[in-house]
Amino acid sequence: MRRVTLIPGDGTGPEIVEAGRRVIEASGAPIDWEVMEAGAEVMERTGTPLPEEVLESIRRNRVALKGPITTPIGSGFRSINVALRMELDLYANLRPARTIEGVKAPYRDIDLVVVRENTEDLYSGIERRVGEDRAESIKVITRRASERVVRFAFEYARREGRSKVTAVHKANILKYTDGLFLETARRVAEEYTDIEFEDRIVDNMAMQLVQKPWLYDVLVMPNLYGDIISDLCAGLVGGLGVAPSGNFGEEIAVFEPVHGSAPKYTGMNKVNPTAFILSGVLMLRHLGEVEAADRVFRAVCEVIREGREVTYDLGGEAGTSQMADAIIRKMG
Ligand code: NAD
Repeated sequence: MRRVTLIPGDGTGPEIVEAGRRVIEASGAPIDWEVMEAGAEVMERTGTPLPEEVLESIRRNRVALKGPITTPIGSGFRSINVALRMELDLYANLRPARTIEGVKAPYRDIDLVVVRENTEDLYSGIERRVGEDRAESIKVITRRASERVVRFAFEYARREGRSKVTAVHKANILKYTDGLFLETARRVAEEYTDIEFEDRIVDNMAMQLVQKPWLYDVLVMPNLYGDIISDLCAGLVGGLGVAPSGNFGEEIAVFEPVHGSAPKYTGMNKVNPTAFILSGVLMLRHLGEVEAADRVFRAVCEVIREGREVTYDLGGEAGTSQMADAIIRKMG
């Protein structure tokens, strides 16, 4: 049995995590869950939204699967999701965007991967209010973080047989910060002569992804652009309901859907469990459970293609748990 930390999260998190857990168990993968609570409710009970025992569990098991966690806007505690990535030094966030037949989407045949830097940039939390009418935030870019995330993108491209890496930046304006990111990316690219390398300015990248997404393959970029561009890519293939992700450090990996806790649907058994289930597929592959991963992926695709037992965002009327039941039935 392989022990994995399971974090249900809050809002709609516990519903999708329960549905996804059942699907992953039905795949036959030998997973032993260690359930750990984090989020707003834990904050009320224990005084911290991210108890040390959660981090200890992830460090011990080296793999975690998590549901979304709510972050209050503008005040209150810092994002637990950001804190978790920083505490565990999960420096690369992998967000694949791939067409799934049957999902209503503006494009077909999309197969993009966004690699987002996960530890610095405007997420460093160095922000202050200067008097009533001014606020400042500091963007941090280091050679070390840039180098390891770009290297991660190239290693991923090589391992997955992909042909091109595109570095995304705004170095024409942010000459020092994004300039350093781009300079570092170019230097790392010289070591990977088997993979094509190019760069794009982020605003142009946004337009190109809408006009000709098929020209791109693996995209690597600083934290904030990664956050935005990966949602754009999720939109190309049908939205947040089907967008999975993995956060990777040297030894630890945490898998989670791209979407948040969709609090307005809490307790309604309504939201789509697919993004969480596909995050579980990424996790199973990472654990070497390739057959179980393929089994889950095929079953998800079949249920979506048939379109009968899918959630509202995919045009159906099934609830979170009914869609999971349908996926489990497909696996036989
Ligand atoms: P959200 O992703 O929770 O929801 C945006 C909208 O997308 C929802 O209203 C819903 O219409 C749709 N949606 C999201 N997930 C869906 C699903 N599984 N199935 C169907 N439709 C779905 O984004 P938000 O409203 O900006 O954020 C809500 C909270 O989640 C915030 O507190 C935010 O900070 C947090 N958040 C957490 C994470 C994370 O845990 N990694 C990521 C993003 C946002």
